[in-house]
Amino acid sequence: MISDTALQMVQSLVRMNTVSQNSNLELIYFVRDELARLGVRSRLTHNADKSKANLFATLGENKEAGIILSGHTDTVPWDGQDWSAAPLGALVKDAPEPRLYGRGSADMKGFIGVALSHAEQFLNSPAPFAVHLALSYDEEVGCFGVRELISDLREAGIKPLACIIGEPTGMVPAIAHKGVYRYRCCVRGKEAHSSLTPKSVNAIEMAARLIGKVRDMAEGFERDEPRYEGFDVPFSTASVGQFQGGIADNVVPRDAWFHYEFRDLPTANAKLMQQEVVAQARSLELAMKKVAPEAGFHFETICEIPSFLTGADDPVTVLAQQLSGQPRTTQVAFGTEAGIFKQSGIPTVVCGPGHIAQAHQPDEYVSLDQLAQCERFMQRLSAMQSLPVPYRDR
Ligand SMILES: [Zn+2]
Repeated sequence: MISDTALQMVQSLVRMNTVSQNSNLELIYFVRDELARLGVRSRLTHNADKSKANLFATLGENKEAGIILSGHTDTVPWDGQDWSAAPLGALVKDAPEPRLYGRGSADMKGFIGVALSHAEQFLNSPAPFAVHLALSYDEEVGCFGVRELISDLREAGIKPLACIIGEPTGMVPAIAHKGVYRYRCCVRGKEAHSSLTPKSVNAIEMAARLIGKVRDMAEGFERDEPRYEGFDVPFSTASVGQFQGGIADNVVPRDAWFHYEFRDLPTANAKLMQQEVVAQARSLELAMKKVAPEAGFHFETICEIPSFLTGADDPVTVLAQQLSGQPRTTQVAFGTEAGIFKQSGIPTVVCGPGHIAQAHQPDEYVSLDQLAQCERFMQRLSAMQSLPVPYRDR
């Protein structure tokens, strides 16, 4: 059974609207104030216009740096979705099993709320290491906030031993996911009456050639890439998600743009994939610029979320297994902040309550059983006397 304190904390967080496009400050200030009551100071790092913030707090400032419990505070929107429960209602229903309904309940305010409700236990724990809370903004739109949080830690000289990210994995430690690299390509051509094509550069046709390149690469991954079992699609994928161009049937289009993405295996390299697309664009530009020097391709990065891979016997994985009581590990199909933490030198694992199948959906929920498992995880962490051996050696 989940305790009333933990459940009420999760409900309080779910009731706050933190859709990515909005400010998350209501939630951040709420957490800051909760921690301040316990005498814990929070470090806030803001976005450029100060409408959003990350929060980092150390529970046990006099102890060694320790384990980060990390979650993103933003949620996806629910516009156009058919909900029977109120998205911000945080209602608990008992059938078919006890569940808490609401946007963000699984992804991932359940984890944050349960962690926060144990702040006092972490503070008073017998362990020689601290527990840190790390809450980020703008994860759902490209993992932007957490980069600020991590660079703040680096500047402050805070070197945590490990990070557990509470994305919904059914409380089974997840040790791998693919990356998500998304780009916008703008094509500039030269317009002309469509009867005078030799004097023009057709932006749509040039875009199509590059789109063909993306498609060829996707087929190449499927044909040639060494398989990485455990993923729904055991090879890297590439696809074009949006395209726009042209103004009329009898005008050679000057402008076109498209968005495309790579989801690379942990063993592949999306940056090299993108370089291949850019190289193809540069070679197409040679002919375009002969007609119009201003013609060409322009690339913008929408998001670059690195893939994630850690060892099944890595100390952080073993720690998460001990805390969750789950001897298994799993791989997940979705991107998380894990690769960014790991790249910054912090061993990381993903483990949290709820299931991704319910996330981003109408009537998102987390079962109370999952929250109770998460609570046991926090209780075990707060009762730990020492870390698994490899951590003590550091
Ligand atoms: Zn999430």
